[in-house]
Amino acid sequence: MTEFPPASERDIAVVTAQLGRPARGVIGVGARCACGNPVVVVTAPRLEDGTPFPTLFYLTHPEATAEMSRLEGAHLMVDMQEALREDERLRAGYLRAHEQYLAARESVEHVEEIAHVTAGGMPTRVKCLHALAGHALAAGEGVNPIGDWALRESAWSPDVCQCTEPGEKLSVQNGAGA
Ligand SMILES: [Zn+2]
Repeated sequence: MTEFPPASERDIAVVTAQLGRPARGVIGVGARCACGNPVVVVTAPRLEDGTPFPTLFYLTHPEATAEMSRLEGAHLMVDMQEALREDERLRAGYLRAHEQYLAARESVEHVEEIAHVTAGGMPTRVKCLHALAGHALAAGEGVNPIGDWALRESAWSPDVCQCTEPGEKLSVQNGAGA
């Protein structure tokens, strides 16, 4: 059904701890921290109760979401919006990101109510860095130029673990180094 690796029981437990509540509709892990913990979950386009959910890639890591909130507060989105207005290539790249997002979601499930809706303000507005960074992390660098930009400005990175409880990958590394 989907190209995304499934979420294990442990992943779900980590995400629940990250969000401080049970995660809804998780169908996979979109991106992971260096330690192996999920940082982006893939969410069902239609939740179990029938609600359409356009945000396929949901940023869950508390440090990451805090950084995106900080950058939003620092008016980065105003700069981005201006750059989109002035830079034709950036505008085209952002439109392609929107289309890639739609295609990724369609590959999971078609939900008529949100058939042309993505997230974060795409394809012309910059409204939520959390959603755009989530997409950039899941898709990899070079797909969502605005999400990539947000991650470049971010003091949090998936390459350096800042998890309260690091995942097994890093625990093992630390154990080996100690
Ligand atoms: Zn980590």
